[in-house]
Amino acid sequence: MESNYNKLSRKAEEFINDREIQETMAYAREHKSDRALIFSLLERARDCKGLSHREAAVLLECDIPEANAALRDLAMEIKQKLYGNRIVMFAPLYLSNYCVNGCTYCPYHRQNGHIRRKKLTQDEIRREVTALQDMGHKRLAIESGEDPVNNPIEYILESIDTIYRIRHKNGAIRRVNVNIAATTVENYRKLKAAGIGTYILFQETYHKASYERLHPTGPKHDYAYHTEAMDRAMEGGIDDVGIGVLFGLEMYRYDFIGLLMHAEHLEACQGVGPHTISVPRVCPADDIDRADFTNAVPDAVFEKIVALIRIAVPYTGMIISTRESRASRERVLRLGISQISGGSRTSVGGYVEEETAAENSAQFDVSDRRSLDEVVDWLIGLGYVPSFCTACYREGRTGDRFMTLCKSGQISNCCHPNALMTLKEYLVDYASAETKAAGEALIARELLHIPNPVVRQKAAAYIAQIEGGERDFRF
Ligand code: SF4
Ligand code: SF4
Repeated sequence: MESNYNKLSRKAEEFINDREIQETMAYAREHKSDRALIFSLLERARDCKGLSHREAAVLLECDIPEANAALRDLAMEIKQKLYGNRIVMFAPLYLSNYCVNGCTYCPYHRQNGHIRRKKLTQDEIRREVTALQDMGHKRLAIESGEDPVNNPIEYILESIDTIYRIRHKNGAIRRVNVNIAATTVENYRKLKAAGIGTYILFQETYHKASYERLHPTGPKHDYAYHTEAMDRAMEGGIDDVGIGVLFGLEMYRYDFIGLLMHAEHLEACQGVGPHTISVPRVCPADDIDRADFTNAVPDAVFEKIVALIRIAVPYTGMIISTRESRASRERVLRLGISQISGGSRTSVGGYVEEETAAENSAQFDVSDRRSLDEVVDWLIGLGYVPSFCTACYREGRTGDRFMTLCKSGQISNCCHPNALMTLKEYLVDYASAETKAAGEALIARELLHIPNPVVRQKAAAYIAQIEGGERDFRF
């Protein structure tokens, strides 16, 4: 299953080599019914060492029902082994929808004349973040269109500083992840110095010709500059990067293989793969021509993609957004998702004021419209532990230090107590009576699952102290 391309190259068209992707798709078609190969891959993947893009592509193409059922079971097994039943919570915060790009699938595109353009002032950011803190959020992903005049890097840096400084009751945003346009090494250094968590940038599609067609105008048109952004971010000192494609923009097979090749490239060149992979699917939005999206990914394929990412890159967190419905989220949580958003608003200023349809500044429709408390209660009901943990970032466990911890098997002595302590904070400070009762019972049960007895005892003591008013314990 040898591949012949230069994954160590810093050039986009070499590490995302089109010929390699085409050959991988052909190889996968050829072997899609090869029982011996497919079952041997599934067996090997059980050790949590991952699979190559070629191996994963064969499994994606596989048409043997028993093998596909085994694949789902394996994804669930790996998810349980590495992540247990914890789900990390976050919320997006839209700072500005001014954008100079022409992305054909996004309503913020420059030509859209009937969307209301808005950029939050620092005072408005304070109000939005206070509203998010009042919901119970500790981890944000800030989002902004690309516009060097309206949203220069200085605006983003000032906004991050504002967010970290806000203290409201027991609230604090402890990790700010940043999703802004591809930029220079110098700007990535500034973001690093501002204390960001993960730098997130979706590739949208790895297929160059389609990429250029979907991004006809603006700086984002430059495929190489966009695709090489994560190398620049890492060169600028950012350890944790988050990648993703917008499933439904191009043929999903091509993008799935490109996504894994990108992860392999980062691991080979930078010594650490992506911290997270997001799996958004295109969804309805203002001023978007639906004819552009004839490659929509059906639910069954989408679930298989999630399961396969979990198997191929077991230690990479996987994020699903509120674009997905409650039912869809419920299905993929079991298969490998480790982070979800809750109570999200995708409009600029939407946490303070719900928009009317006429105002219309949202990036896309939200399928899951439940409040954070409803999402937390739902997760607890399904047996998950909603976690507001940000400990690794704050303890300096980023990049390869984070991966070392994951691979040491000690994560359950770390994540699990941290999840329970941060859930306890949420229950005491923000939860409804119903969620609190369900959450307290869950914590009592789950404390018993912390393997190390010393850690278990300490966690129980910290949880009692949280009830007494103290905050921010972590392992
Ligand atoms: Fe701008 Fe991003 Fe929307 Fe493209 S996807 S139009 S870059 S906000
Ligand atoms: Fe994530 Fe680290 Fe917290 Fe675990 S301990 S949930 S890896 S931040």
